[in-house]
Amino acid sequence: MKHPTKRDTKLVHAGSHPEKNHGIVNPAIYHASTVSYPTMKDFEEKRADPINNFLYGRHGTPTARDFQEAVATIEGGDRTVAVGSGLAAISVAMLAFVGTGDHVLVCDNAYGPTRRLCEDFLKRFGVETTYYDPLIGAGIEDLIRPNTNTIYVESPGSHTFEIQDIPAIADTVHKHGVKVVMDNTWSAGYYFKPFDHGVDVSVQAATKYYVAHSDAMLGTVTFMEKDTETVIDTARVLGNNAAPDDAYLGLRGMRTLSARLARHQKTGLQLAEWFKGRPEVDRVLHPALPDCPGHKIWQRDFTGSSGLFSVVFKKCSPAGMAALVDGLELFALGGSWGGFESLVLPTNATRTVTEWHDNGRCVRFHAGLEDPDDLIEDLAAGVKRLTAAG
Ligand SMILES: *Cc1c(COP(=O)(O)O)cnc(C)c1O
Repeated sequence: MKHPTKRDTKLVHAGSHPEKNHGIVNPAIYHASTVSYPTMKDFEEKRADPINNFLYGRHGTPTARDFQEAVATIEGGDRTVAVGSGLAAISVAMLAFVGTGDHVLVCDNAYGPTRRLCEDFLKRFGVETTYYDPLIGAGIEDLIRPNTNTIYVESPGSHTFEIQDIPAIADTVHKHGVKVVMDNTWSAGYYFKPFDHGVDVSVQAATKYYVAHSDAMLGTVTFMEKDTETVIDTARVLGNNAAPDDAYLGLRGMRTLSARLARHQKTGLQLAEWFKGRPEVDRVLHPALPDCPGHKIWQRDFTGSSGLFSVVFKKCSPAGMAALVDGLELFALGGSWGGFESLVLPTNATRTVTEWHDNGRCVRFHAGLEDPDDLIEDLAAGVKRLTAAG
């Protein structure tokens, strides 16, 4: 089967080239700086096509190429460039298109460091940021200015999980020549197909569900052929590339993505439902639950959910939060997510144009691959401690 069409088959085989590696199933890890050329003719020919040749270690290696091929296949883009972290991927995607005097639109529930990149860093270069309500849909039209250049969407949003109507937003902004850049990390590029929904450039923190073992930093920028030179040039001019060992780990993780994600999804839903039934809980923020803002759009556009969601408690004093978190035995307190292990993180959502008043009572959970009964037992004891601490 030369060109498998089913997603799970692609995940196992995309970017796999044993014929280039002595029949060995996984790629070699190429550590490289200098690339040598046998002749001037070869040197000149390769330099004439820098996108498709390896010219220097900083421009990528065959290890990264195989990983990139797999990511582009799964996300449905033409090409991917792998960089050193998810945040590096975000900066490459934004800097590829914006310039002095431009205006960007950013969803109000974007990942915190993305907000800082736009409102602090880009501002120094004369780029202005306007935040928008993630539930705005086609209403985004009112915020477009003559100099609006890029819109940054993240769906669901970090910590609060609102789902955006990306097709409506993309249709609207494309009429004004605005690029749609998406952070697609939550779906792992698996439960949401960005290029079928109008996205121009999709970014992922491959650190999360691709690497999947909490042991490497990696980011991906995926795009269509028309943006190839702009995006690849930006990554190169910024000196941003993926280390070969990390690209290897990303590709290795992808091979088991479908089996892992199914389990993260199932356990995540089980925990979310359990929280929903608890008297101490005000709201559970999980796109697959009917009361999550944008749930109907999630049903329409996504094919599943991953293992990351938040819970808002009715009451949660600082002492209660500490009692909950400190005593958990299976949920480590820490950032990042997408690894095999369960995690907990008290969250502080920053908002500019929308209201958010749950700071101090909102906790993000990542459902790992442990037995869900054990996880629920751990959480039940935690909620008891939270209540007892007042
Ligand atoms: C973690 C994360 C990032 C950043 O990825 P790093 O690899 O940690 O730099 C970007 N977006 C989202 C939604 C994330 O959760």
